[in-house]
Amino acid sequence: MQLPEFLNSERRSQMLKFSGSSVFGGVAIGKLFIFQKNENKVERRHIEDVEKETERFEKAKEKALEQLQGLYEKALKDVGEANAMIFEVHQMMLEDLDYQDSIHYMIKEQQINAEFAVAQTSDNFAEMFAAMDDAYMQGRAADVRDISERLISILTDSQSSLDVFQEPVVIVAEDLAPSETVQFEKDKLLAIVTRQGSANSHTAILARTMDIPAVIQADIGLDPEYNGKTVIVDGFTGDIYLDPDEETSKVMEAKLADCLAEKELLQQLKGKEDVTLDGKHLKLYANIGNPGDVANVLRNDARGIGLFRSEFLYLESEDFPTEEEQFKAYKAVAENMAGKKVIIRTLDIGADKTVDYFKLDEEENPAMGYRAIRICLTQQEIFKTQLRALYRASNYGQIAIMFPMIISVEEVRKIKKIVEEVKAELTELAVPFKDVELGVMIETPAAVMVSDELAKEVDFFSIGTNDLTQYTLAIDRQNAKLGDFYNAHHPAILKMIEMVVKNAHGAGIWAGICGELGADLSLTETFLKMGVDELSVSPAMVLRVRKIIRETDTSK
Ligand code: PEP
Ligand code: MG
Repeated sequence: MQLPEFLNSERRSQMLKFSGSSVFGGVAIGKLFIFQKNENKVERRHIEDVEKETERFEKAKEKALEQLQGLYEKALKDVGEANAMIFEVHQMMLEDLDYQDSIHYMIKEQQINAEFAVAQTSDNFAEMFAAMDDAYMQGRAADVRDISERLISILTDSQSSLDVFQEPVVIVAEDLAPSETVQFEKDKLLAIVTRQGSANSHTAILARTMDIPAVIQADIGLDPEYNGKTVIVDGFTGDIYLDPDEETSKVMEAKLADCLAEKELLQQLKGKEDVTLDGKHLKLYANIGNPGDVANVLRNDARGIGLFRSEFLYLESEDFPTEEEQFKAYKAVAENMAGKKVIIRTLDIGADKTVDYFKLDEEENPAMGYRAIRICLTQQEIFKTQLRALYRASNYGQIAIMFPMIISVEEVRKIKKIVEEVKAELTELAVPFKDVELGVMIETPAAVMVSDELAKEVDFFSIGTNDLTQYTLAIDRQNAKLGDFYNAHHPAILKMIEMVVKNAHGAGIWAGICGELGADLSLTETFLKMGVDELSVSPAMVLRVRKIIRETDTSK
């Protein structure tokens, strides 16, 4: 594949400095890539030369097939055959005769431009698929749109897909949805810069998991002229230098070297216990989004996984992941963690994490809407499929399951009943499984207030401070304008954490924190003094938290 011209070009100009808010530290130096959402607005044009237009379509089709073949081969290598299949399906759909005939016919009969014929055919076919009774066929509507988008991008020469870059880059975007961020190849990303965004958004969380600098609310424009220029991102200060001058480059290169040296130094803490000077032990775990993150967990020596956000498996899929696909993912994580605890959270879809095939309605207030456990308790087949996969995988390691967005004891009892049904089904089929620990996330003020009752129902609590802060302070975690009002150290939150830990211990269960606050080094001592039993943080933060734990004396 040819490298786009802008990535090869070396342009000389004056340094420009921009700034934003840092959401994850580190320094990145590399080429800038502006990520534009593919919102291809296609205009209808009258054409005279039908033959030429048809040929233009044919060429675009050939190019799209070539791209898909490239993606298939790459995916086969990176993520295995099951995940690569989608690109094969897309190639088949692109070669479908009905699809092509419709486009040819429109170009010829209506004398319209190829991209408009593709867009029109895409709408017609997608509607046709969506109206079918069969769920599999309904799911193909998104695929038709996808292949048509690819064709239109080629025809309008507006490909912004990340397939094009071959060297690691700094992504600059207006904003990034979690479903877009998960598609980026981790080893091709040096840093993320967005003009919008908030510190607690899942995109920021993903950047932390990937251990790359991230800056939000940056005042950099999305000027195509910037594409391919050298950029330095200072994830500590939120500063961005475009076309850096020699002096700035020197300073930032030294800062990058310091960062790498600090990381190197932290390596000495690998294998060391998570224990305070006065002998208090804490379980230090890591958060992950997909099986690929386990390498990072092991590299940073976390003692387990405290939060596997299983919804990312759904976000990365074109359709509901099957029981088998999920089973394989959970089994791989359990096996790779070799007997260390792996706490898998059931599907927390909704709010900012949406996928087309769930067909969720537009909501006025999605964060308080139909999401997470509410979907699972309403559409129980989706829930049961996941539970079956989880229990089957339990046989291959030390899995625990936790449930998000809980607000009442009744919900937990309903969940436990469904869990029992799934276990009975598996027993009947003689499928082996282990009896795993069940926990709930404490991330709503309601759950905090009834935590004494909830503690009698489950084996552990994991406090989700991201949502707990959002719901307690009435601050939308996605809203970039509210950054100044967002006080992660608000006494209300700290008192709630203390109360939850006390109620957990009162009932003889353990309580941890898996929200981003768990990695706040200025609070590690406070959490230890409160008696928090576990902290689950992004892999890159594990050794930093370990350092603080080992330097703390809670008796003082
Ligand atoms: C939380 O809310 O703190 C949490 C850990 O879950 P998420 O960030 O995925 O909503
Ligand atoms: Mg949450």
